[in-house]
Amino acid sequence: MASERATLPEKGVSRKRVLERLKAYGAGDPDYRRMRTWSLVYYLGEEHTKFLEKAHGMYFSANGLNPMAFRSLKRFESEVVDMTAGMLHGGEGVCGTMTSCGTESCLLAVKTYRDLARDRRPWIRRPEMVIPETAHVAWEKGAEYFGVKPVRAPLAADGRVDTKAVRKLVGRRTVMLLGSAPEYPHGMIDPIEELGAIALEKKVPLHVDACLGGYLLPFMEMLGHPLPPWDFRVPGVSSISADTHKYGFSAKGASVILYRDVEILKHQLFVYENWPGGIFASPGILGTRAGGSIAAAWAAMQVFGKDGYMKLSRQTMDTADIIKQGIRAMPELELVGDPPASVFAYRSRDRRVNIFAVGDRMESRGWHIDRLQRPEALHAMVTPLHAKVARRYLADLKKSVAEVKKNPKLAESGSAPMYGMIAAVPLRGMIKKQVVAMMMGLYGPGGKMPALDSAADAGEEAARNLPLAERAGRWYLSLRNRLTKRGG
Ligand SMILES: *Cc1c(COP(=O)(O)O)cnc(C)c1O
Repeated sequence: MASERATLPEKGVSRKRVLERLKAYGAGDPDYRRMRTWSLVYYLGEEHTKFLEKAHGMYFSANGLNPMAFRSLKRFESEVVDMTAGMLHGGEGVCGTMTSCGTESCLLAVKTYRDLARDRRPWIRRPEMVIPETAHVAWEKGAEYFGVKPVRAPLAADGRVDTKAVRKLVGRRTVMLLGSAPEYPHGMIDPIEELGAIALEKKVPLHVDACLGGYLLPFMEMLGHPLPPWDFRVPGVSSISADTHKYGFSAKGASVILYRDVEILKHQLFVYENWPGGIFASPGILGTRAGGSIAAAWAAMQVFGKDGYMKLSRQTMDTADIIKQGIRAMPELELVGDPPASVFAYRSRDRRVNIFAVGDRMESRGWHIDRLQRPEALHAMVTPLHAKVARRYLADLKKSVAEVKKNPKLAESGSAPMYGMIAAVPLRGMIKKQVVAMMMGLYGPGGKMPALDSAADAGEEAARNLPLAERAGRWYLSLRNRLTKRGG
């Protein structure tokens, strides 16, 4: 029952029973093993997963907090950093750290550049950072956490950041610039060379967010895909983030941040010398750092090597090309921009076809798909094993589009109106308030979701996401009521 609070079992449950329940409770989760997810999971099959589990397990209890304690972890971290720096054409001076995720890498870059500016340009009272509209939301989070004002640069017609606008937005308070390679929503690579030139001209550091592309683009280039330079070869690029746990196919909990110069990295470090617990020094946001994630990242890079990653990149790109071609061939749909890699969005170009209704139809066919706003679109992040389902995905997409075209009223049922509403509503502050209220429901006292316990215990098929849909439905209705009241 959803309203009942969990309590610690009076008597411990047997390990066997606990493991059974863990398995049962996952019954309603997205089916990534059958490649039904198009975000969140980078799955390469059971053999590789077992290998990562083993590597992770060997360092399961090890802690990367203190680099002087587990020398093995420091070695893995240094080698992951060096291997990544080599891939991204970093010179002699390039250095960096591993972090727990892309978001931590982005947050750290914001903190580092804020503090670099405090050191070198102490007159800046209200620091700003110029970021493309398509920057990952982690940059907004970093801006909020570290008190740096995000100045959002608009996109040019081709969907990449408008560098003329960027040049104008850089001011006396700007502590960093950002470009993405590629950005998450539409998969476009920002014009890093031009951003680098602005960075040099204005003497402001430029970070390249390659969380997504860091372990894909270098190998695409080796395979002969024409890509404009975006890494340390570009003058003016001062740091890069790359997620090992995305296209590096390591275990979750691993990303890398690299700096051109240790004099920049210095500002990422935290040291407190007066703690009764001892002198404390830590490279990132976390305290305890899971040894397993660090070891598994090293293990993944060793086991693939250059040729392994090239092979994975080829499979990824071949599959992405099939799907992109398939979408281009559907007259009702179009890609958003001309994304060069394996992440992209597509939208409707037919007034009768509501793209969110298409999303619902795809969902009902078992696909787990993300919805985007501005513009309203569906999203896909392609990985090698999607090769097995690419044709089926396209066939289902075709059917879904045809259904919505024949029955445009589908846009008024399911989750489509909710997504449409959220994307279109002009009062963004109200959306934010509603989402905060929903999150308070999820994380407040007794908040949990979905309530699968009873279903799984009874051995029934899990109750899927019913509570989530219910919540979302209620939220949408209350929103609509408020809006119609306001609108009179
Ligand atoms: C995924 C991603 C991030 C954030 O990474 P997490 O590991 O999800 O925290 C940041 N930037 C880009 C471009 C990303 O694709």
